Amino acid sequence: MHPPLPDVTTTPPIQWKYISEGGASIVFSFTGPHHPQFSGTVLRLRKAPCNSPTPDVLECSRRTLPMESGAVDDEPDDPTIAFQNKVIARLVPPQHLPRLEAVRVSQAWLEELRNLHEDDRPIERRLKDQIDVHRAKAVLATDLVGGPVWAVEIKPKWGFLPNPQYLSSETTEKKSRRCRFCMHSHYKTSNGDTPTTEYCPLDLYSGDEQRTRKSLRALWDSWTRSDGAVNNLKIFVQGDSIRPSDNISLGKLADVLQNSGETVESCITALLPLVLESPLLRILSGLQRSLDQLDIEGLSALWQVANKGVPLGSTFADPPMAEWDAFTTEYLASTAPTLPADRLPDSKYLHYFCVAYLLSATFKDCSVIFCLGKGGGEQDSATVIDLDPKSMERLQKWADLDRKIVDAFDIDDGTCVDSLKADYDV
Ligand SMILES: [Zn+2]
Repeated sequence: MHPPLPDVTTTPPIQWKYISEGGASIVFSFTGPHHPQFSGTVLRLRKAPCNSPTPDVLECSRRTLPMESGAVDDEPDDPTIAFQNKVIARLVPPQHLPRLEAVRVSQAWLEELRNLHEDDRPIERRLKDQIDVHRAKAVLATDLVGGPVWAVEIKPKWGFLPNPQYLSSETTEKKSRRCRFCMHSHYKTSNGDTPTTEYCPLDLYSGDEQRTRKSLRALWDSWTRSDGAVNNLKIFVQGDSIRPSDNISLGKLADVLQNSGETVESCITALLPLVLESPLLRILSGLQRSLDQLDIEGLSALWQVANKGVPLGSTFADPPMAEWDAFTTEYLASTAPTLPADRLPDSKYLHYFCVAYLLSATFKDCSVIFCLGKGGGEQDSATVIDLDPKSMERLQKWADLDRKIVDAFDIDDGTCVDSLKADYDV
């Protein structure tokens, strides 16, 4: 028998404060009086799309969807929990991972929470989706931004240049000079989707003080220009996400930094030692790189050997958790498939390399929270979050997007320098 799940519905929804949200989930932190289970925690809830053909914010917020039956015991835990326990925890040291556990929620409680906090959400998000009120379970996680005095969340993205071995003659030069993020930014800017950014992840991952400072400055500049709407940087002060146009919040940040100089420089100077000294970014870059040895081009070529004309990954089911577990054991073992010098690997390893690519994508899409100034003898910390398993159906979409990004990119004067690559050239 498992012990009963902690029950969030024993707390009033008003004691949970909206913190932030991504594409798939929304986060609330506990702000009530001391509670043995919930103090120092956040609640991660899944979102569901607003399914009205002409979304109206109020309609989306208040629509009552039909009750679905289903006891809490029938609903599996959110896959993020098992994925972290069986896969991620074997690849990333525990001091860099949040504590995650399943908790009980209810439709009535989630509806009350949604109605209380809908106005706290950005309008563009409210038009698209809302809390999925039909869940019986949610994820309780360590609150990384509420306790400390301030925290910075960075979505660092791809931290390596691809192995050139399997690139085509049309892409080798481009992909060897510019990183995937910089080419993708160029693509999005030329389509009018996002303004230009000077941020290059390889600077952030470099371990070099000047380059890391440059990357943090570029993230700050994009954050300011977009009034906090870019998803690569979030800044929290005493549990509140701040916006560059909000002078009161910026004043709070200046206060905690205790520096009379320019806030951006004080912030970067305070953050820099933790970014440089923590091994976490180097670990993430290493995992991304070693799980994506073929590049999507090499993976597509290997797929076509065995499945000519069939979309990449389409005949493989998403790995169940036992398969993820077995994959991780194989990846960590000395018997993992290696790449021959002059040709594609044997197609019997196709499944291994597809699963490896999915796991690499998880690490390319995660965020890191740097927490500073906790006081009371507590160390500053770097923690990786948003590590969800990816689906096989994404593989062909990624291959198509890769093609579009590289085709649209003209070699420019810039270069992206991959200074961690030497670690892998034995
Ligand atoms: Zn770059």
